Amino acid sequence: MSAAPRRIVLFPAAVLRRRAAEVTRFDDSLRGLVDEMVRVMREQEGAGLAAPQVGESLRVFVTEARPEEGEALGVHVNPVIEISGDETDLMNEGCLSLPEIRGDIRRPAAVTITSSDLEGRRHARTSDGMIARIWQHEFDHLEGVLIVDRMAPVDRMRARKSLRALERSAGA
Ligand SMILES: [Zn+2]
Repeated sequence: MSAAPRRIVLFPAAVLRRRAAEVTRFDDSLRGLVDEMVRVMREQEGAGLAAPQVGESLRVFVTEARPEEGEALGVHVNPVIEISGDETDLMNEGCLSLPEIRGDIRRPAAVTITSSDLEGRRHARTSDGMIARIWQHEFDHLEGVLIVDRMAPVDRMRARKSLRALERSAGA
């Protein structure tokens, strides 16, 4: 079964603002979607990609971090994230759906993610590294939350021009 080729969806597409639906079937169409997401993530040189970013409002994301992060290629279906500890980090983030926009975002440093693999088996993993940051960014996409919602006001102001340009090119 070959999946339809997917493309990256840019702000302000409505699918990026929707709460994505739970995955209920672990079948070939899910595997085809995940294959396409991995292809698009690599093509765009991203560290992560959520299904809404290729136009599919489903609770699944993929990640690819450096090997030292301990998770080369991650597939997370129906993820749940729990914060461990009180520590937070401020880090600069970008997003494939918001080209040219970056901002400093404060997030919990350590989290545990529990998610299903492509066979529907649940796994839990804890991290306080870069991958913990990526999990939280991608999880936000499943809730319809974007980095512009979490940026400091000064960064959001700076992003305004780029956001308007994206809105104009979507309307054109
Ligand atoms: Zn993103």
